[in-house]
Amino acid sequence: MTDFAKTRQMFDIPHGVIYLNGNSLGPMPKAAPNAINSFLMDEWRTELVRGWNTKNWFMQSNTLGDRLGRLIGAPAGSTVVGDTLSIRVFQAVAAALALAPKRRVILSDSGNFPTDLYMVEGLMGLRDVGYELRTPAPEDVLDHITEEVATVMVTEVDYRSGRKHDMQAIIKKAHSVGATVVWDLAHSIGAIPVDMYGTNADFAVGCTYKFLNSGPGGPAFIYVAPRLIDQVEPVLSGWFAHEAPFAFDLNFRPMPGKIDRMRIGTPSIAAFSLLGAALDIWDGVDMLDLRIRSIELSEALISGVEAK
Ligand SMILES: *Cc1c(COP(=O)(O)O)cnc(C)c1O
Repeated sequence: MTDFAKTRQMFDIPHGVIYLNGNSLGPMPKAAPNAINSFLMDEWRTELVRGWNTKNWFMQSNTLGDRLGRLIGAPAGSTVVGDTLSIRVFQAVAAALALAPKRRVILSDSGNFPTDLYMVEGLMGLRDVGYELRTPAPEDVLDHITEEVATVMVTEVDYRSGRKHDMQAIIKKAHSVGATVVWDLAHSIGAIPVDMYGTNADFAVGCTYKFLNSGPGGPAFIYVAPRLIDQVEPVLSGWFAHEAPFAFDLNFRPMPGKIDRMRIGTPSIAAFSLLGAALDIWDGVDMLDLRIRSIELSEALISGVEAK
């Protein structure tokens, strides 16, 4: 069982504050100041450029991705962190569209977070081949999954109401018509159990500064199913995605067979140190325990309000 009295003690929340806004910005782990200070003093200051090797900065997108991947049922080697969620949405949808080159419909819903829809609009303008973005009501998404659809791009949990899509049903229906699904897990990761592997998910993206508590602007993540990784176009083909980044080859060759091809450019290692401090807490959390505790607390709040 997860010890929630202990995890509560690992956060620095000002006295007198009952914080209910972790869905927008998670509170600060007590270990955060030491983590960033130690990155500054023991890594950047002393190692300088050697830190990319001696402190493993170069592979932190992957090692942090694996630690975070456990929370969404992602197998090791299928998730990387870095950049922002808006950019990851663009990257994932572009990759999904390239897998269905003859189809023109991107299906989302009217409850999605605006930036996800904006990023798709930008992508549609860039790939000027007649894409159409459909946004039915969230309850109607399943009925709109047809053979016209290239990819379904939905946010699992609604940021206002908590309404939750049936992940398994949407993936099954999409796969039955030859489409893929891009999940935005911004309001799922760290809040509810998610099983990328068990549901046979294709793509997922999300951020770490909400429930995961990595601090404002903390790195985003992308998951790609291992069965797809070799076919997936990185699209944002930065040198960190190259098969041999330090060959400084003038032609882009994506890293074959590995999630590394979804890395982009130099990530913020300072921000990674804060994410690491947050994951030190998450490493001790079981998502099923968390879901049970979350429902208990919600019920306690509801009955408390009702009693008053
Ligand atoms: C919070 C949130 C975002 C934010 O994107 P950023 O690039 O981090 O600003 C995007 N999509 C969803 C669904 C969100 O909940």
